[in-house]
Amino acid sequence: MEDNCPFCQIIEGKRDAEIVYSDEKVVAFNDIHPHAPVHVLIVPRKHIRSVNDLTGEDAGLVAEMLMRAREIAKKLSIAESGYKLLINVERGAGQVVFHVHLHLLGGWRA
Ligand code: AMP
Ligand code: ZN
Repeated sequence: MEDNCPFCQIIEGKRDAEIVYSDEKVVAFNDIHPHAPVHVLIVPRKHIRSVNDLTGEDAGLVAEMLMRAREIAKKLSIAESGYKLLINVERGAGQVVFHVHLHLLGGWRA
């Protein structure tokens, strides 16, 4: 838990969010400024500031995030129509929240 991290605050229940999925490893919630009809962020409970800070120990967690994104897409009925999975890495690429997260975007009309 990083005190000034908005995603740690959401994970700890100290900041409101529309949670769509939660387990012992990851939490997923709706993006507050959606860029698509469905825009969910899949976030590990462990605070890791960026993909550049992942270690070998985190490999399972990364796989977990991808598999959960896939299930959430199915649950939200966008799996068949299609979706994008995106991770911004560092400021130059648009990362503004420094707690690793996977964007799940979809729900456009086919
Ligand atoms: P990134 O640019 O990859 O760091 O993405 C950060 C995302 O987090 C943006 O799409 C923001 O709209 C979203 N965001 C920031 N604060 C919150 C929050 N409190 N609840 C939900 N989404 C948030
Ligand atoms: Zn954090």
